[in-house]
Amino acid sequence: MTPTVLSNYWNGAFTPSAADRTLDVENPSTGEVISRVPLSPPEEVDRAVRAAAAAFPAWRATPVARRVQPLFRLAERLRQEEEALCRILVAEMGKSLPDARAEMKRAIENVEAATAMPLIQVGEVLTGASFEMDGEVLPMPLGVFGMIAPYNFPAMVPFWFLPYAVATGNTFVLKPSERVPNTMQRIFEILDEVGLPPGVVSMVHGDRTTAEALIDHPDVRGISFVGSTAVARQVAIRCATLGKRCQAFGSAKNHLVVMPDAPMDEAIRNMVTSCYGCAGQRCMAASVIVAVGSRTCREVLDRFLDASRKVSVGNPLDPRFADEAMLMGPVISARHRQSILDRIAEGVREGATLALDGRGLVVPDCPGGHFLGPTVLADVRPGMACHRQEIFGPVVAVMEVASFDEAIRVINDHPYGNGASLYTRSGYWERRFKMEAQAGMLGINVGIPAPVAFLPFGGTRASMLSDIKAQGREVVRFFTESRIVTRRFWPED
Ligand code: NAD
Repeated sequence: MTPTVLSNYWNGAFTPSAADRTLDVENPSTGEVISRVPLSPPEEVDRAVRAAAAAFPAWRATPVARRVQPLFRLAERLRQEEEALCRILVAEMGKSLPDARAEMKRAIENVEAATAMPLIQVGEVLTGASFEMDGEVLPMPLGVFGMIAPYNFPAMVPFWFLPYAVATGNTFVLKPSERVPNTMQRIFEILDEVGLPPGVVSMVHGDRTTAEALIDHPDVRGISFVGSTAVARQVAIRCATLGKRCQAFGSAKNHLVVMPDAPMDEAIRNMVTSCYGCAGQRCMAASVIVAVGSRTCREVLDRFLDASRKVSVGNPLDPRFADEAMLMGPVISARHRQSILDRIAEGVREGATLALDGRGLVVPDCPGGHFLGPTVLADVRPGMACHRQEIFGPVVAVMEVASFDEAIRVINDHPYGNGASLYTRSGYWERRFKMEAQAGMLGINVGIPAPVAFLPFGGTRASMLSDIKAQGREVVRFFTESRIVTRRFWPED
């Protein structure tokens, strides 16, 4: 059967793209082509953005309590469709079904958080700003916002932004990742049903050229970008040059620090989930274990290797282990797999010990899949490429440090600062970690410290090249600008 070519969505309708090029979208577990994504030309971005700009004045004027009504319906419909959506997501991205369910839950939670907009989008009044004068701060929507998404969370990452942009009175154009466009295609069918006026949300498929056309469009007021730091940097520079608002979330290398007093059984279990869930392709996946002291390091390494050997690897849609909590699926593509293999080889060349080698792993029945087994590089030192670079696969670096202070230096000297976690029983170490570890999101005995939707999400340094984080109350600052009104009250005659 010929795979379907996906359609764009603007002005309240699906419209086939006139693109002369498409890309195959592959199931990374099998290599099967499941759909084709059009590389939409700039004229189609223009049509979507013009429809979004036309929808803006009436949407901005709609009372906020009415604007959130479609979001209540959206949350309900997403819950009803959750299992079917998870299967689409797994078929194109390769994460396990339990991971997909967790992703969908967080996407829905963001919709729920945005329904609180009547309580959040309130301004401020300074009564008595001067004699007979008050000052008001009004959080106003700006117009059309664009979003450019990565492949690893096809449903959740766009929902760090879409519900909030819409609830605050803006209109929104999404460019999904060209590698995983099917999940959003189905979600837009649901968005089409929930009663949003035409033009309030749109979607244009494509790759870099489509994304650049979205950034450059004169009617787009701001861009939320999530992806690799190399691209985030280009997007941030492009937006700054054009005088646009920008959120640019980048790559990560997250450290797990293990203190000698850590509850070891729980910590090892927790670390395995963090390092190998999503085959290491989460921006919050841990990829470096920092053990404090040589005894701790020996124990952590031995037990982590044992636990890593027990991780099952396979096609997440295979009914034999579809519901297994710690199943590792494939990585996204043959090309990405090769880049991971190159990084492992580089680590060995620089002197790391290949304590567990997942390169030769074969998944029977899936000859076309891009699988790799859990891989552990021991004796890693700061400064090695396998420590400094994001590998974004099931590859874990283990390093020994002499003290808590040295562990903090390893985290703080790293180019990336998305997440970091500490395993300890001690309130003293916990407090010092919170004060001293420079990462945007910290975990205490939590290996994936990804905050719930009601709290901000975002890193620091090269993991986030902008100021305002995603999700919750904080992202409302991105989607609104403060209009300040100074009012004088003259006495009546
Ligand atoms: P990527 O940077 O390759 O692509 C992301 C998006 O950018 C895609 O939609 C792509 O079409 C588009 N794009 C490519 N070149 C572009 C350009 N020059 N200008 C504008 N847009 C362009 O990222 P990816 O491989 O899809 O995703 C994985 C990366 O995302 C990892 O580095 C991961 O750490 C990161 N990530 C970060 C977070 C976070 O919160 N910091 C969350 C998820 C993923």
